[in-house]
Order: sequence, then C-alpha cells, then structure tokens
Amino acid sequence: MSSVAIVRCEQYEQALVDQAVAVACKIGEMPDVRDKRILLKPNILSDAKEERGITTHSAVLRAMIRHLKSQGAKEVLVGDSPGLQKPNFQPKASGIYQVCEEEGVQWIDFTKQPKTYTIPYTRGKKLPLAAVLSQVDMVFSLPKFKTHQLMYATGAVKNLFGLVPNLYKSPCHVQFPSREQFAALMVGIASIVKPAFSLMDGIIAMEGPGPANGISRHLGLLIASRDPVALDYAQAQIMGYDPLLVPIVAEGIRRGLGDKPTSYPALSAEKLVQSDYIRIEMQKRTSFIHSLIVPFVFSHYIRWKVKKERKAPVFLVDSCIGCRKCIDICPAGALTMVDKRIIIDPKACIRCYCCHEVCPASAILVDEVIPS
Ligand code: SF4
Ligand code: SF4
Repeated sequence: MSSVAIVRCEQYEQALVDQAVAVACKIGEMPDVRDKRILLKPNILSDAKEERGITTHSAVLRAMIRHLKSQGAKEVLVGDSPGLQKPNFQPKASGIYQVCEEEGVQWIDFTKQPKTYTIPYTRGKKLPLAAVLSQVDMVFSLPKFKTHQLMYATGAVKNLFGLVPNLYKSPCHVQFPSREQFAALMVGIASIVKPAFSLMDGIIAMEGPGPANGISRHLGLLIASRDPVALDYAQAQIMGYDPLLVPIVAEGIRRGLGDKPTSYPALSAEKLVQSDYIRIEMQKRTSFIHSLIVPFVFSHYIRWKVKKERKAPVFLVDSCIGCRKCIDICPAGALTMVDKRIIIDPKACIRCYCCHEVCPASAILVDEVIPS
C-alpha cells in the first residue's frame, strides 16, 4: 500500500515545522526507528542560502533529526555530495552543517572511500556510492519540491543520486543521454539504497528552470511516505503534470520500486493541483523499444535524437561572473572561456544541463519552461 501523507506547514518557524514533521511522519507511517542508525540525505545541490529554495530547508532537517531522536533512533547521520564538492565540504551557506553541529549529529563526507556497486537496469553500469550506505540501518530521503530542467521534477528518488560522490555524477549523462535511460539509472540507484522513508520540503518550492535557477514559490506543504515513487507521483500531480509521463515515476512503477499512491490520509494531491505552476515543457517520450534496445545497440542514434529534440544552453554574457563552474562540471568538454566569455561547442554538447544546475548567477538559459 502506497500511502502518502501531505500536511500543511505554512512557514519555516521551527516550532511549526517540528509539529508538522511529527504529524507527517505519523500519518506517513514512518517505520520503527528504535535502536537504528539512520542516514538523512537532504538535497543540497549547491549549498545556496536557503531563501533561494534550492536546498532542503535546515528547519526541516532539524525537525527530522529531533523527531528521530524522540522516537528512539540510536544515531542520526547527515550527508550529501554536490557535483562540484571540494575536499572537506561542509554545507554552511544553507545552514545544514550548523544544524548538524547544534543537534549533535555527524556530517558525513561521501567522497571518502566510496564502495562500487553494479547498478540494476543499466546493463552493468558500475558506480561508487557513499561508504556510509553499508554502515547504517536505514536511509531517509529528504528532497526539496523542485522542477528539474532535465527530468521535469526532482523528488525522493532523484535525491538519492547525491549518494554518488561529486564528479562521478555528471559523466553518467554521457552514457545515459535520454531521459528514459537516466530515469532507469536513478531507479537503479534507489533500488540499491532502498530508502525506508522520505519527507519532502514543499513549504517553499521551486518552479520554472529548476533545480537551481528556478523561482521560489510558497506551497506550504510537507509530503511524506515510505514509498519514494508514490511521493514523487504526488509531487508531479501537484505540479500539474501527468505523473505517468514523468520518466522517473514511470520507471519507478515499471521496475516495482514503488507504486501510484493508493491513499492520501491527510490532504489529497488531486485537490492540490497547481494549474499555474511553471513547469518544464514535456517532450515526446523515447519509445519503449528505443529506451530498451536502441541505447545499447545504436547509442549514436539516441545521442543524435537527444540533440535534435533538446536545445543547447545559451550563456548570458552580462550575467556571467566568470566562476568557471560550468566548465568544470561539463561532462562533454563542450565549454571554454575566451575573453571572459563562455563559448559552447553545440556539436559536443549532449544537452545534460549540468552547467545550468551549477551556475550560481542564473547566466545560463535552457528554453523548456511553460510560462503560466
Ligand atoms: S554545455 Fe552544459 S548542457 Fe552541454 S554538455 Fe556541457 S554541461 Fe551538458
Ligand atoms: S557557471 Fe555561470 S557564472 Fe560561472 S562561468 Fe559558467 S555561465 Fe558564468
């Protein structure tokens, strides 16, 4: 049974969030955590100030830590690994590191001695995942309610991609260029991690060109479930998508990682649909036959098709601050800086939009947003 608890929480005042998180965990049927070691995986992405709506808010993290302790958890750990993580990274801009210190829980560096796994549904792809995965009893996914330029929405399943340490992430786009292939990778990782519970911060959500350069939008919601796919289904529904057209949701159901929500014991996602939500325009799905057979036999064809269907990003000279983060993350080596301008080689670009995700200055445009 895939029950999804959607509860109201209008602001990040700690006492209100503590209360709402406890309610969401109860209605969402959080598993018994007594004597368990638990890893919390918030969505940090680029350790931005929390008012930008990029990261899981520190008040939600704090409330989750407190609730787990009150329910008898033996130890709570917190970690994430943004794509351009530097050694000894500590997420201080978002306030997440300070919450760990104040609540007396350990911040975990995912880059230290990761363990390699063969990822299901990817025909043998091997990827390192954080070593802590094999040292805890449970993983909780704490995503942020956000649109995603590549995958349309990022939620409980996609959030677990952060268990892949820093720069191992972006090269995956070269091997898995279509949305369906990338969704299979995300679902494969989630099937290894097996999150025991997920709690999504939708108090301030992001619409438009997410996951890092969108627009903050007040939703006033926390969403919780044992089933990460059902949670993402509810999120997609609230955003105004047909959830079954969101590749990660569709793949998650197809692979049995989770299912459509069978009950909404508090608020119903159907009644919360935001028809004016600024969504990423959906593109035609790569056909089933293509997603299963063609990628491995005709990978050049898939790459050609992706390039034909998706536009290359556009770089805004006036907004660019010259940080070079886009160059550092680009898995295709498609970017260079000439005379303080970013130059893109559109033939090399694989349209993964990693550059757009890491740009701190909103200097990169990707034209796939549906205006309200
Ligand atoms: S330029 Fe941007 S979208 Fe193109 S391959 Fe590089 S990171 Fe991906
Ligand atoms: S990441 Fe953005 S601001 Fe930084 S160099 Fe690239 S385009 Fe400019």
